[in-house]
Amino acid sequence: QAKVLNRGRATCFSASLSAAARERIHMLTDLRAAFSAEHLYLAYQPQVDLISGRALGAEALLRWETEDGRSIPPDQFIPLAEQSGLMIPIGEWVLRTACRQLKRLIDLGHPGFRMAINVSHTQFREPGFVPMLERTLEHCQVNVQLIELELTESVAIGHLDATRAKIAEIRRMGISVALDDFGTGYSSLSILKQLEIDRLKIDRGFIKEIDEHGDHSGIAGLVIALGRQLNLITLAEGVESEEQRRHLIQLGCQEGQGFLFARPMPAGQLETWLAGQNR
Ligand code: C2E
Ligand code: MG
Ligand code: MG
Ligand code: MG
Repeated sequence: QAKVLNRGRATCFSASLSAAARERIHMLTDLRAAFSAEHLYLAYQPQVDLISGRALGAEALLRWETEDGRSIPPDQFIPLAEQSGLMIPIGEWVLRTACRQLKRLIDLGHPGFRMAINVSHTQFREPGFVPMLERTLEHCQVNVQLIELELTESVAIGHLDATRAKIAEIRRMGISVALDDFGTGYSSLSILKQLEIDRLKIDRGFIKEIDEHGDHSGIAGLVIALGRQLNLITLAEGVESEEQRRHLIQLGCQEGQGFLFARPMPAGQLETWLAGQNR
């Protein structure tokens, strides 16, 4: 009797495990199909000068629109793409697509507009990454000075020397580098001191704490001061209110991005939005 019960339980257990695994395999199959059917697209969120509100550039953000019209957020499918190796071709597509869009914006009369592109750590660490970057930029014929790569500090964990060398190589090409989600990792401070970058993106979590009475925890203010000390431009992520914007300006932050200014939007909408700004 006990044997049968045990066997029953064991079957149940393995069945539930494989259900989770099946779900992941399903999602990965769907993602592969979506990628080849061109159902992935990029949304662009403006990055602005906090004082003037003028758009300085945009960040390209990956979107997956399923057949039934649902939009799956990148946080849900990027980890899966990373683990399966699919992030390498997807990342290359992101770079190519964002560069083409940048070229189009410049041709439409937005000189100096910059394009920020997220690079995941598996993509960054891949030996073929820099050659891919060179190839793609050469092909797109876009001014590399207008391209910025957003890296998170996770790229450097356990690979500090290799990361420093690669960042230096990329910056020698004329591309700028931003450190994304700053302050959320385990070793932000020590890593920041050792990486040579251009821009520091303060994580939304610290901006959220700024209310009408100011910066309570003081973290946003500290990060901005740190950025100034290191001669970096600071950009606040997730700016949602006028109060936050005002306090950020007082704290000395130069740039911002968030729903207060604009939500991420498809390419066509960005073009309309920019045309409206220039009027
Ligand atoms: P991230 O690079 O930190 O991007 C900023 C995220 O904050 C975006 O989420 C954006 O939609 C959201 N956001 C912007 N302003 C506001 C605001 O005012 N309030 C709130 N609540 N949210 C705001 P999204 O698009 O869901 O992207 C999530 C993450 O996925 C990104 O975080 C980035 O790490 C990753 N990701 C997106 N696209 C790519 C890509 O092409 N390649 C790679 N490797 N990662 C990507
Ligand atoms: Mg980013
Ligand atoms: Mg970020
Ligand atoms: Mg963030």
